[in-house]
Amino acid sequence: MVIVVGSGAGGATVARELALAGIPVKIIEKGPAIQSKKAFNYYDPSEEGIDLLKTSCVGGSTLVAVGNGVRVLENELKNMGLDISLELDEIEEDLEIGPMPDSHIGDGTKLLMESSKSMGLNIQKMPKFIRSKDCSPCGRCSFGCPKNAKWSAADFVSEAQNAGAELISETEVTELIVENGRIIGVKALQNSEEINFLSEIVILSLGGVETPRLLQKAGIEAGNNFFMDTFITVGGVLKNVGFKDEVQMNALIIKENFILGPHFSTFLSAQLKEKGVTDKDILGFMVKIGDESSGYVGPDCIVKNNTLRDVRFLAEGAALAGAILVEAGVNPDTIISTHPRGAHPGGTAAIGEVVNENLETSIKNLFVVDASVLPTAPGAPPLLTIMALSKRLAKHVISEYK
Ligand SMILES: Cc1cc2nc3c(=O)[nH]c(=O)nc-3n(C[C@H](O)[C@H](O)[C@H](O)COP(=O)(O)OP(=O)(O)OC[C@H]3O[C@@H](n4cnc5c(N)ncnc54)[C@H](O)[C@@H]3O)c2cc1C
Repeated sequence: MVIVVGSGAGGATVARELALAGIPVKIIEKGPAIQSKKAFNYYDPSEEGIDLLKTSCVGGSTLVAVGNGVRVLENELKNMGLDISLELDEIEEDLEIGPMPDSHIGDGTKLLMESSKSMGLNIQKMPKFIRSKDCSPCGRCSFGCPKNAKWSAADFVSEAQNAGAELISETEVTELIVENGRIIGVKALQNSEEINFLSEIVILSLGGVETPRLLQKAGIEAGNNFFMDTFITVGGVLKNVGFKDEVQMNALIIKENFILGPHFSTFLSAQLKEKGVTDKDILGFMVKIGDESSGYVGPDCIVKNNTLRDVRFLAEGAALAGAILVEAGVNPDTIISTHPRGAHPGGTAAIGEVVNENLETSIKNLFVVDASVLPTAPGAPPLLTIMALSKRLAKHVISEYK
C-alpha cells in the first residue's frame, strides 16, 4: 500500500496514476472536500512578513488556480537527467489545454493585446485548462470556479477514488514514522485524536511550505532554496473598462526576466477607491518573476527577502506593463502597483539537494512530489511540470512495487 500525503497538483496526480495501475493507495489530506465555488474560504492564513497564497482543501491550491497551463523548466530538468516531455504531453491531453475562444477573451484583455502588438511586443493567448463551454466569464477563477468549468486536482482525486483509492480528508499528518532508515508510516491528527497510518511507501505532496517542515521533523535538512515566483499587479484607471469580470491572465507576454498577463487585483481598487474609482474602471497587468531561491522555510517561520536582482526584474516588468497600459488608454497619473506577493511556493526539497532523480529522500521509500522538488523558480505557472514529475514518479513506484 502507498500513502500519499496531500491532494494538490502533486499528490492527486501520483495517487491517480497508482490507483489506475491497481496499487492500493491512501490519500491523507488536511483540508475538507469542498465545492469549487467555496475555495476562497480555504486560503491559508498569511505567515508573518510574507503574502503567500495557497489553500488547504481536497485538490489543494489547484482549486484557486486561474487555469494557466504552461510548460516550464522542461530543459532545466532534462539537463539534470529528468526528461518529462512525454508526461507533459500526456498532461496537456488529460487537461485539454489550449487557448480560449475569442468569446472568452474580454474587452480589456483584447485592448491590452492590441496595444502590446502595436508596440511590437509578442503577446499570445494563454493556454488554459478551462472548459469554455461551461465557463461564463466572471473573473472569479482565483476564488474557486462558480461553474466548476476549470480542471482541478479534486477531479483527479475522484478518478483515483473510482479506481479504488481511499481518501482520508480533514486529517493532518504531523510526523513521519521511520525505522532503521526506512519509512514505515505517518502520524496524523484527526478530530484532535492521534492516529498512526502504516505503509511501506510514503509520498509527500504537502506543497512547498509544509513538505519541508515535515522532513525537518525527521532530521532531513529541507527548507532552503525557497522561492515563490514573486508577482505584483500594476494597474490604473480606464473608465468603464469592465475588466474585473473577465477571465484573468488570458494572455501572455514572455520576456527574459519576467512574464506579463492581464490581471485585476482588489489591492489596486483599495488604493484607488478614495479617488472615487470603482472596480469596473481598472485595467491591470500581473508582473511575475522567477525570484532567486534565497528564502528559507523553518518550523515556525518563512524568511523571504526580495534580492536586488528580484527588485530590478520587477521594476523592468512594471515599466513595460505601465507603458502598455498607457498605450491602451489608461490615465498615466493613476498607475499604481500592489505589494509583492507569491502563489508558487517551492524549491524547499529540491532535486539534487534533498531528493534524488527518482524523487526519493535519504529515508528509504520516502518520496516527495510537489512544488518543493522544483530545482529553481520557474517564473511562470508550475502546475503542469509538478504533475509531469508526479506521473514520472508513479512509473518508478509501479516498477518497484510490482
Ligand atoms: C491564486 C493562485 C492561482 C494559481 N494559478 C495557477 C495557474 O493558473 N497555473 C499554474 O500552473 N499554477 C497556478 N498556481 C500555482 C499552483 O496552484 C501550485 O503551484 C500547485 O498547486 C502546487 O502544487 P503542490 O502539490 O505543491 O501543492 P498544493 O496544490 O497546494 O497541495 C498541497 C496539499 O497538501 C495539503 N496539506 C498540507 N499540509 C498537510 C498535512 N500536514 N497533512 C495533510 N495534508 C496537508 C494541503 O491541504 C493541500 O491540499 C496558482 C496558485 C494560486 C494560489
